[in-house]
Amino acid sequence: MKPIEPIKERFRQVFGGDPAVISAAPGRVEFIGNHTDYNLGPVIGAAIDRRVYVAIRRVEERLFRFASSAYSDFVSLDETDSPVAGRDSWVNYLIGVYNNLIRKGLSTKGGFELYVDSDLPTGAGLSSSAALELASGKALCECYGLEIGLEDLAVACKEAENEFVGVPCGILDQGVSAFGKAGGLVHIDCREMVFSVIPLADELSIWIFNTHKKHALVESLYSERYEECLSAVNGLVDLGLEVSCLADLSMDVLERAKPSLDEKIAKRAEHIVGEISRVETVRHLLEEGKAEDAGKLLFQSHASSKNLFENSIPELDYLVDILRSMPGVVGARLTGGGFGGAVMALARKDFTRIYAESVASAYRGRFGEEPETLECHTADGACILESVS
Ligand code: ADP
Ligand code: MG
Repeated sequence: MKPIEPIKERFRQVFGGDPAVISAAPGRVEFIGNHTDYNLGPVIGAAIDRRVYVAIRRVEERLFRFASSAYSDFVSLDETDSPVAGRDSWVNYLIGVYNNLIRKGLSTKGGFELYVDSDLPTGAGLSSSAALELASGKALCECYGLEIGLEDLAVACKEAENEFVGVPCGILDQGVSAFGKAGGLVHIDCREMVFSVIPLADELSIWIFNTHKKHALVESLYSERYEECLSAVNGLVDLGLEVSCLADLSMDVLERAKPSLDEKIAKRAEHIVGEISRVETVRHLLEEGKAEDAGKLLFQSHASSKNLFENSIPELDYLVDILRSMPGVVGARLTGGGFGGAVMALARKDFTRIYAESVASAYRGRFGEEPETLECHTADGACILESVS
């Protein structure tokens, strides 16, 4: 955790007084459950020890002032009821959360001053956007005395990103940033919106190898996969099956239906149905302390993304392949939406930084540039660090 004194000091410099509340919320890694969320299946994520921090105080006048260590611009608004156009959109995450909390009963009286600090890289697939939402949501609730459950806060933050920023994300990012636990992973049942913690042994850490590659068509490819999953459901309904989403489908039923489905659509459905069952198996294996067996399913998840869902790229496949041969690596897979981005590895302590560097330099030998490498440990979810409100 960052020391809070420098954050307070910066707040004083920017706004000329002390903040009333300081909060923090972690970034997250998608541990397993690739594209399962919008198919209403389960997903497992890890909150990591990199965070976004928010310092805030209320002011009497109807004025909303925002500053961030990541941006040089200082934003001042007197209206917050619609997204800010033509400016840096980072403020929209904050006013989105503020508006959604007003719907939950937050007072609309006066305004506030808010400062953001962070040691979580942005745009690296570690969900700095959700960490920003959860940290600001927690701080606003504390500052205004609004009591709402953590589930409601996570959903309000997700809807803020959907509605105010226009990103159609599922509940994974906000759910993990809210419910994270040091020494555990967060399992989310995306249909019932149930969040629970699975233990993860202390000796294991999560490594991120970020290629910074991004397919030029990543957004449209993501929606193409979404549509293909929907077509699979429609195709199965046309065959007389009672399914409303791919999470309703078993592998046996899919196998029987496959010859009547379009080949590509059947592959997409097979990935999702297989991935849903892998998520549940990983959960049980980790609950029984069998991390090595769970790791094998991480490799299987990657193979399924590569061959059936076709959302990997050669750079990610290469990283997974060399990680497989490294001492201490229990499992590895692409993490996040795919078509670029990062690979995560679950590793024991004997996978040291030296090995991580050898992975990075082998990658550079092949692709000409080094991936960004980050060792993460699991962390607690969004919390209040200090409050005088
Ligand atoms: P990711 O969530 O994977 O990091 P996104 O594109 O979803 O990537 O979110 C990144 C955006 O979140 C940034 O462009 C910015 O608008 C906002 N953001 C993240 N961290 C900060 C920060 N420290 N200060 C201000 N805005 C931030
Ligand atoms: Mg994000």
